Amino acid sequence: MNDDKPRPDCTHWIGTEHRHCREGDGVRQYLTGPRCPAHTPAALASRPEPQPGPGWPIHRQEAT
Ligand SMILES: [Zn+2]
Repeated sequence: MNDDKPRPDCTHWIGTEHRHCREGDGVRQYLTGPRCPAHTPAALASRPEPQPGPGWPIHRQEAT
């Protein structure tokens, strides 16, 4: 999943700090927008991240 777009910042609103997260490391696109690992929908719901598993379409990088 490599787009040619510039890497986005996490747009999660930290209510207690009255600011957006703006974290840039490890940010991925979710339905709710770009999120850093600490603010993914799963993390906010205290659920484990969906992990690639059997049936998951992974493109493995293997030396051929
Ligand atoms: Zn964040």
